[in-house]
Amino acid sequence: MPELAAGQQPFAIILGCSDSRVPAEIVFDQGLGDLFVIRVAGNIVAPSQVGSVEFAATRYGTRLVVVLGHSQCGAVLATLEELRRPAESQSRNLRSIVDRIRPSVEPLLVSKGPQDEDTLVREAVRANVRGAVAQLRQGSEILQQLISQESLLVVGAEYSLETGAVEFFEGLPAED
Ligand SMILES: [Zn+2]
Repeated sequence: MPELAAGQQPFAIILGCSDSRVPAEIVFDQGLGDLFVIRVAGNIVAPSQVGSVEFAATRYGTRLVVVLGHSQCGAVLATLEELRRPAESQSRNLRSIVDRIRPSVEPLLVSKGPQDEDTLVREAVRANVRGAVAQLRQGSEILQQLISQESLLVVGAEYSLETGAVEFFEGLPAED
């Protein structure tokens, strides 16, 4: 694709999970040069992810950011496990991922009484996406400025491993 070597104009930035079953380009049926993809276990927002979004938004003028979570996310499951049975042996590096998911997921265990496991996992995945959307919106002056100028939209979505469908559920502009 020699024409792509000269530059890129991705129309969306995807912050997705590293899970082998959720490759963003295939999920959204996009080709080379279409998506600026950041993948990290649990689609967490750490400084390097914020920096990557800033980079694409300012350098390529990309105006849409999608935080793409997915059903049965292993990183979210690991966080639920850790909250119930803290393991001291966990590596510091792995802990840094769990620690970024924990604040979104922990309230689900505290505030609600007994609930079935499937519901809990589903809500935890969505809470983690909402948390990541909020962190991207608030965690960077550059992104805040772009958002306030309506030059950037940050939305959350979930990919279903079971159906192959993507549902957008967070941060969509109000219909009018
Ligand atoms: Zn995952």
